[in-house]
This record gives sequence, structure tokens and C-alpha cells, in this order.
Amino acid sequence: MNTAVNQFVGQRRKMVEEYVLNRGIKNFRLAEAMSRVPRHYFVQESLQHRAYGDSPLPIGQNQTISQPYEIARMTDALNLTGSEWVLEIGTGSGYQTAILAEMAEKVFTIERIKSIASAAHKRLDALGYMNIVYKIFDGTYGWLDQGPFDAILITAAGPEIPSILIGQLKDGGRLVSPVGEKNQELILLQKQGDQTSRQSLGECSFVPLIGKYGIRPPA
Ligand code: SAM
Repeated sequence: MNTAVNQFVGQRRKMVEEYVLNRGIKNFRLAEAMSRVPRHYFVQESLQHRAYGDSPLPIGQNQTISQPYEIARMTDALNLTGSEWVLEIGTGSGYQTAILAEMAEKVFTIERIKSIASAAHKRLDALGYMNIVYKIFDGTYGWLDQGPFDAILITAAGPEIPSILIGQLKDGGRLVSPVGEKNQELILLQKQGDQTSRQSLGECSFVPLIGKYGIRPPA
């Protein structure tokens, strides 16, 4: 077993209690997953003592590991029961990927920055996750030949949810995504037959979703 799981155990429990359960997210499968996954293992050594705090942290290349509460809020909204195939756009550090892998059957994760994707893949392999499939690409295209998915999580914000991704959601599926550029909102989209309903889960702040169906990359 990777020894990281035996470190910071108390801080991890405290994080879950203060920033998840006490803030109204009463999802006990999620609380268990967040108590198991060693968040400090997903950041550089000099930041490990801050891994269980109430904030995002830098992971290099101007990207971040999201705040624990944001991870919890987004994952909770997906209503995972354990049998789902989930598409994640924006692997980042791989921490959210690990939480999804704990709570769903299979996770397909896409990251556009190679060095970030490779570091995340290495960490998740070292922790023993066998139910994750990785891709380095522009995730705004989705993963056509593996979909449709029971759930889709977008971890970076574009001006709108790319319709090509909504097209890869199963009937009855749930998609969570930050939307907006300066002022962002976390959106839960649910698909029922030909209809999609949208619900705002409140304000949020994420790095930009850069790609063909997101924000154009800087020239
Ligand atoms: N949840 C992640 C974690 O736990 O570390 C943090 C994700 S970070 C906020 C957003 C990630 O989305 C960044 O790593 C960024 O490079 C990636 N990203 C942005 N646009 C993307 C795209 N079009 N396709 C794939 N990844 C993208």
C-alpha cells in the first residue's frame, strides 16, 4: 500500500468535517472517499502542509488543485452510486479524479497540458487506481468513442457548456460545470429524453477551459 494514505489522517478527517459536512454536504460516500484520498500527495512537497486547508493551491503551469469544498460540491451534485462511467475534463493534479474513481465504476479523464497530465497519471498509478483511463487532448471535444457517459464533470470554466459534451451525456445523466469568464456560476445540467434542465449551484471561481469549444488559447 502507498504510505501516503497513512499520513495526515487527522487533518484529512478535520477537512471533511469542517469544509464538507459542516457546510451542508451530507453525502457519506463522498465524505468517506475524501477521508481516504491523501490530498497532500497531489501537491508539491513544499505545499503539503497546506493541502488540507480551505483553499485551492497551485500545481504549476498556472493551474490549481481545487478547494476541498468545490471538489465536494461538484462531486455531490453528480449523485454517484458506484456504477457510473464518468467523463472528467481537466485532470489537473488528479485529486478530483481519485475521488471520482472511489465513487464510480470507471473514470475517463482528459487534460490538455502534458506535464500536468503525466504527473497526475503517475500519482494515480502509484495509489493503485485501476479504473481510470487517461487522455492528453483538448477535452472540449469530449471522448466520443467511449460515451455516452452517466456523468460529466468539467473542472475549468468556459463561456458556455460545449454542446458536443452535452451530446455525450446519457439519458438521465448529470453534468456539472463552471460557466462564465469574469463572473462564474456552477451549473448542474440534467438530461431527460430530449430535454435538458439547468440549475445554478451558486458562484464559483475556476481556471479557464481552453480549447476549440471553450476559450481560444492565447496565440
Ligand atoms: N480538479 C482538479 C484537481 O483536483 O487538481 C483541478 C482541475 S484545474 C482547476 C483545471 C484543469 O483543466 C487544468 O489542469 C487545466 O489545464 C485543464 N484544462 C483546461 N482546459 C482544458 C481542456 N480544454 N481540456 C482538458 N483540460 C483542460
